[in-house]
Amino acid sequence: MLETLNPQPQDKILALIAMFRDDPRDGKIDLGVGVYKDATGLTPVMRAVKAAEKQLWEAEKTKTYTGLAGEPAYNAAMVGMILGAGYADRAASVATPGGTGAIRQALELIKMSAPGAMVWLSNPTWPNHPSIIKYLGMPMAEYRYFDAATRGVDFAGLLEDLGRVKAGDAVLLHGCCHNPTGANLTLAQWEQVVDLLAAKGAVPFVDLAYQGFGDGLEQDAAATRLIAGKFPEVLIAASCSKNFGIYRERTGILIALTSPERKAVVQGNLNFLNRQNYSFPPDHGARLVTMILEDDALRADWKAELEEVRLNMLSLRQELAAELRKATNSDRFDFVATHRGMFSRLGLTEAQVNTLRETHGIYMVGDSRINIAGLNAKTVPILAAAIASVAG
Ligand code: PMP
Repeated sequence: MLETLNPQPQDKILALIAMFRDDPRDGKIDLGVGVYKDATGLTPVMRAVKAAEKQLWEAEKTKTYTGLAGEPAYNAAMVGMILGAGYADRAASVATPGGTGAIRQALELIKMSAPGAMVWLSNPTWPNHPSIIKYLGMPMAEYRYFDAATRGVDFAGLLEDLGRVKAGDAVLLHGCCHNPTGANLTLAQWEQVVDLLAAKGAVPFVDLAYQGFGDGLEQDAAATRLIAGKFPEVLIAASCSKNFGIYRERTGILIALTSPERKAVVQGNLNFLNRQNYSFPPDHGARLVTMILEDDALRADWKAELEEVRLNMLSLRQELAAELRKATNSDRFDFVATHRGMFSRLGLTEAQVNTLRETHGIYMVGDSRINIAGLNAKTVPILAAAIASVAG
């Protein structure tokens, strides 16, 4: 049986991690993998997470199975964090292994309820989106997103392409902090997209993996909330990996907004999908998130630390844009300060990306996506000088 398997193509980001690890040079810089790092290069366990873990260790009496859809308190707390109040009667939800698990379950739900429905993806998008869709054998289409000249959103192209969406198609939208580009819609542009998609009868499918990493916890949910208020049906796949820093705990949620009348049936189908794929979802991370969101002191401390993380990335953006102004004697890279989230796509050629790696020991994804959090005060001018030398 297994001899029929073909080798899988290597995951580009994982391959880059291995190359970086094997590079013996001092001063090499990793801007590849999408995890937050502080100025010392550490991906820290957040203070509130540590505190909740301690409390949990002392109080936890059993590790027996929890709910098939997750602990109801987790789902309620997450729906509240993402959407605010007022959605209890419309929101069916299941806890999932990370945001990826939520995306997978959302796609399976689309496949179950509307076989043949097209799934629209931004070009570019997180590579795992098309990869999972292809694996599930679902039809997909792309809408333009990135303007290679301005490194902003190609909004006219986006509207033109989404103009071809058919009723019942699912449109995957990055709720905030677009990965891999860092370029985002303004709220006024979101309103136009919402009006267009509502007129088409599309089903928005929001991937929210970076809430709190862009303009703030509430601000980063604004587009998702706008969508939730306008459409009868919405799918939201959210991740706690980044904003709680609990990557390996695999903590996410799929929320399906529907009518109060349909909610029980939708919930039953979400439960069914969990049961088929992995039965009970992971609990540890979800429990920590619930404890943090439900406790005033833990929540305040978590929000404060998340804000430190966000502001650190924002000031790195501003420093890098300023250094690039000096190094290239131009404003060509000012977009770095306008982008939001952990990533920016610099718009370099593959050859330039290779030179940065081979000559300067600077590692970024082949499409020239950099992880801003991979930088610190010392490496910002080094990166700027290296970019100027290949693209000056
Ligand atoms: N969506 C996007 C756009 C992402 O960048 C990521 C993480 N790289 C995820 C979803 C899922 O993250 P996780 O499964 O680790 O929670």
